[in-house]
Amino acid sequence: MSAVKGLFSGRIAVESLMPYPRMLDKDRATLAMMVEAIDGFLTPQGADFKRWDRQGAQPPEFIQGLRDLGLFGLIIPEEFGGIGLSNAGYARILSQTSRHDSSVSLTIGAHSSIGMKGLLLFGTADQKARYLPRLASGEMIAAFCLTESGSGSDAASIRTHAERNPDGSWTLSGEKIWITNGGIADLYTVFARTPAADGKITAFIVEAAWPGVSHGRHEDKMGIRASSTTTVNFDQVRVPPGNVLDEAGKGFKVAMAILNNGRTGLGGGAVGGMKALLALATAQAKERHQFGHPIGEYDLIREKIAQMTLDCFAAESVVWMVAHYIDSGVEDYSTEAAISKVFASEAMQRTAYEALQIAGGSGFMRDHPYEQAVRDSRILTIFEGTNEVLRLYIALSGLKELGRSFGDLRAAIDDIFNHPIKGFGVLGDYAEKRLTQATGIGRDRISTQTPPALRAASEIYERYTLELAKACDFVLRRHGKAIADRQFELKRIADLAIDLFVGLCVLSRAAGLVDEPAKAAPAIAMANMFAEQAKRRMAGTIRRITRNEDEAVRALAAYVLEQGGYPWDVI
Ligand SMILES: Cc1cc2nc3c(=O)[nH]c(=O)nc-3n(C[C@H](O)[C@H](O)[C@H](O)COP(=O)(O)OP(=O)(O)OC[C@H]3O[C@@H](n4cnc5c(N)ncnc54)[C@H](O)[C@@H]3O)c2cc1C
Repeated sequence: MSAVKGLFSGRIAVESLMPYPRMLDKDRATLAMMVEAIDGFLTPQGADFKRWDRQGAQPPEFIQGLRDLGLFGLIIPEEFGGIGLSNAGYARILSQTSRHDSSVSLTIGAHSSIGMKGLLLFGTADQKARYLPRLASGEMIAAFCLTESGSGSDAASIRTHAERNPDGSWTLSGEKIWITNGGIADLYTVFARTPAADGKITAFIVEAAWPGVSHGRHEDKMGIRASSTTTVNFDQVRVPPGNVLDEAGKGFKVAMAILNNGRTGLGGGAVGGMKALLALATAQAKERHQFGHPIGEYDLIREKIAQMTLDCFAAESVVWMVAHYIDSGVEDYSTEAAISKVFASEAMQRTAYEALQIAGGSGFMRDHPYEQAVRDSRILTIFEGTNEVLRLYIALSGLKELGRSFGDLRAAIDDIFNHPIKGFGVLGDYAEKRLTQATGIGRDRISTQTPPALRAASEIYERYTLELAKACDFVLRRHGKAIADRQFELKRIADLAIDLFVGLCVLSRAAGLVDEPAKAAPAIAMANMFAEQAKRRMAGTIRRITRNEDEAVRALAAYVLEQGGYPWDVI
């Protein structure tokens, strides 16, 4: 079972969390070489990144440089000419490119994380042979085309459509918006509505050079301005039968699998951005003197540096835990991946905000890098699933699993007279779970596996895992199936799951560092800090499950919506 889904029923799957995984040996040597080559190529271009941010485009010679470095073939197997990095190795590369410029990571990430990921996950041997070598070399750049003007978070409502022709080919029409790499891509993974007989949504591989494919102008964006974002139009495009990804009608599943599998790219990028900001912020805190001292000597600045470091360590711990789940063949990791995206994106935004604050007025000036970091990181909580929708997903996916055991319970009761042994078995499990939730007896112990310095932190997670299970039990009993529409409750459940899973990843990572004297003490301190902060947040969240002002919040929002805005004045 997925580690997070286990938490919803009060279980800490210690075997999925400890020991903290290590980067594969085969990737380590490649990564060391690539990191050096990336720094060698990108470091001298610092001024260019600033200029391209203003101009809003990366020049073709720069994209060629990315090709020459092999950055379009990172996750493509070596047999197709790629580098064959693991998910963990790939995320590490994106963290390196993000230290220099977010738009660079986006160009590479939109290609690998989502643009051509469908071919890797679902492509036939023929599709792979036709496209992967050209994608690996960067001769073809890929993009992912799901969003439309009327269909953002509600991806299932797309209008782009495709009809099957008598010869088996398809005719595809519609317009996609805000497509990253839209203006430079040669290959699009396109999602379209298909007639009921073929299922609802189908994924197609479409070449940009085919008649009827065109793209709009480069969007003028707030951040990640140099990365290409355009509309992509499909006007009666003929798609050969061999270019359907997976089966017709399975497109929604394909889209979600791609997004889930690609989340560590975004997370890795966010971690790299945080590391770059920490380097800038520490230099600033040491160099800038006010009131006769470096500002880094003041507690309120130290508090920011410490929190930024903790956020970065926590994001890194959860992103690479998820990457290793994917690499080791864990099948059900979508909830963990969603948590890593939500946490890493918000941590990056907090870090960008605080780094700018440490720089004071200089941070606001465009000749310093902070304002761009704030602008660039703003997108992270919006694309690849908004954090609101992902929180709903995190809660609902865990509750669904629990509801299934409620369903099992009902089935068991129905079944008990026909198959007493089977029926009583399920009831026995359920009763044990309830007893554990109520008393804590028989609860999973991670504290027995962690060093003494982390026992107290471990016990916090043990206790709040039971609290999460109790909270789930409570909301399911109170709302039944209607829980799907109770967003305040779902957000609270998701926030508990996020704190628990991220905290457990931090704990596991710190426990794994105890034998490395130089790193152990600060890592243990961070794990304890995270646990204490998480405990305070979780305690508040649990309280608000029963004591809250939800009705007042709903009513106030309804009033303001009805008024069309803020209706008061002081005149
Ligand atoms: C720079 C950029 C690059 C992008 N790149 C790509 C790309 O390469 N490929 C691609 O297909 N798409 C891409 N997108 C689109 C992106 O994925 C969408 O913007 C995103 O999915 C959100 O959709 P939306 O913007 O229509 O917002 P909406 O879905 O309209 O959401 C608006 C707000 O309502 C909230 N909301 C929506 N539904 C609910 C709900 N049920 N409950 C509570 N709150 C809700 C959202 O969280 C959000 O805060 C990109 C967007 C941008 C800005």
